[in-house]
Amino acid sequence: MDLSTLHPHHKRSIVYIIIGFCLGLVFWFLLPQLFLKEPTTVRSESKIHAFHNPDSNLEKIRIRAFYVVPQNKTADAVSNWKEFLETSLAKAAEFHKIQFREKSALNYDIYPEPVILEKNNIFYDTKTTKYGNPKALIGIANELEKRVFRKDGDLYNENFSQRSASEYPVLGIIYEGVGAAGGVIYESELESTVEIAKKLGLPESVIYKVDVESADGFFILSRTFLTDAEYRFNGVTNFYHEFAHTFGLPDGYDLETGVSSTFDIMGEGRKKPIEIMYLDRKFTRAMGLVE
Ligand SMILES: [Zn+2]
Repeated sequence: MDLSTLHPHHKRSIVYIIIGFCLGLVFWFLLPQLFLKEPTTVRSESKIHAFHNPDSNLEKIRIRAFYVVPQNKTADAVSNWKEFLETSLAKAAEFHKIQFREKSALNYDIYPEPVILEKNNIFYDTKTTKYGNPKALIGIANELEKRVFRKDGDLYNENFSQRSASEYPVLGIIYEGVGAAGGVIYESELESTVEIAKKLGLPESVIYKVDVESADGFFILSRTFLTDAEYRFNGVTNFYHEFAHTFGLPDGYDLETGVSSTFDIMGEGRKKPIEIMYLDRKFTRAMGLVE
């Protein structure tokens, strides 16, 4: 076709089409490069660490998990606990890997036998089991430290009890009783919880003294979350939620009212299956993930 015979309007539209086509080429040419190149360079900057704490490296985490049964609750103990625990750990590790773009690895060991605790449940549960039974977490962690992790302990196991310098060690306690709580263990030269609260700028009510050197974080979860029909959709979600407290993530909901302030696994998402859950970006960013 002879272009000069065309009406000027048509001429213009041909030009427009060409420009459009060229833009399209440039666009398609650049896009794959953007997608392929940028994430890799950006990812390499990521160095995962504890929440708001770059000194605490989280590139490798190891949960040492236990099933613990109070002296007077052995009749309630379940025989297939290990399968349930293994499944929860595997699903939690998969979720973790995706959330942190493979920049933080979650590994785990399961203590081979159930640990029958020295005391009855009332010793660990104390007067109140409110707020996820943190008192039981403290009492049981102290006992495991003495019995499993110290050389003179009756359950000491050399391979299991070693702490590796390159890993962030977490104590995971599945309790034959009530409980859902987790936290970070800080070493402090300060003696009282009042002083520590002041230094960290936290309310005194969330600080407890614990005698544990084998882990930097710990959590407790009732065995029922792993086995009971009531929790078949969000049992593992709760497992990861409590685990997430071990590297400092705060709750995304109000402990008194239950009203959520985030939609992720730390907030409203605690009620949903882990397969459709995520970690809020404000949390992963504050843990060093660059994306
Ligand atoms: Zn929580």
